[in-house]
Amino acid sequence: MIEFHDVQKYYGQFHALTDINLEIDKGETVVLIGPSGSGKSTLVRTVNGLESIQEGQLIVNNHDLSDPKTNLNVLRRDVGMVFQHFNLYANKSVLENIMLAPRIVSHVPEAENRERAMKLLTMVGLESKADNMPSQISGGQKQRVAIARSLAMRPKLLLFDEPTSALDPEMIDDVLQVIKTITSDSDMTSLIVTHEMGFAKEVANRVIFMDNGQIVEDDSSQSFFEHPQTERAQQFLSKII
Ligand code: ATP
Ligand code: MG
Repeated sequence: MIEFHDVQKYYGQFHALTDINLEIDKGETVVLIGPSGSGKSTLVRTVNGLESIQEGQLIVNNHDLSDPKTNLNVLRRDVGMVFQHFNLYANKSVLENIMLAPRIVSHVPEAENRERAMKLLTMVGLESKADNMPSQISGGQKQRVAIARSLAMRPKLLLFDEPTSALDPEMIDDVLQVIKTITSDSDMTSLIVTHEMGFAKEVANRVIFMDNGQIVEDDSSQSFFEHPQTERAQQFLSKII
């Protein structure tokens, strides 16, 4: 589903991603961790073309992102992304936020679109908030709407960049629970940047540890948390667990 071959990413002179080699298969749930500034967001953002790469090859869902002719809009139909800040449309209701992309991008008929949106809202536990405006729901609820919205396009791949780090502690579990449900679907592939190590242990098949723009460890979740191989990962874990 995702293949990085010797990828290099620069911001001007700054070498933000160095020699990235990574393959993620369909159905995997991969958690990306590492210190601040290590390149996690940059890596995740290259996957849907929000950041360009300068060298190497990156293939996502059979689209070659190293080829400038690749149509990013087509790629992004299959790639959902959930950010730290939820960016809901403030002047549209919760339900409308979810229905918008399927209507405009995929021309889903109105009744079917509404029914699917209500199902998604039910899945994230917010069917009673369908007609609320985003300003009338909590931060955790907004993030659950943002997740439902990303699912409305029926993505094959979901990217999460610290989906809970802007939330109050008491809101985090509900959002993590929703992500857990989604990623347990064996057809869904997901790449999740998170600082929630308990969650990472629970949901990830695989953990990638980055430092300084490089992948330092790439291992099964169990083996990473029980026996991190490198000193850098050991130090990182000893600080945050
Ligand atoms: P955090 O945990 O703080 O979110 P991160 O691992 O997501 O960190 P990135 O945001 O990917 O880190 O940043 C990696 C490096 O690239 C950092 O040194 C950052 O300063 C730099 N960087 C990120 N975006 C840009 C940009 N648009 N222009 C120049 N440098 C950038
Ligand atoms: Mg980041």
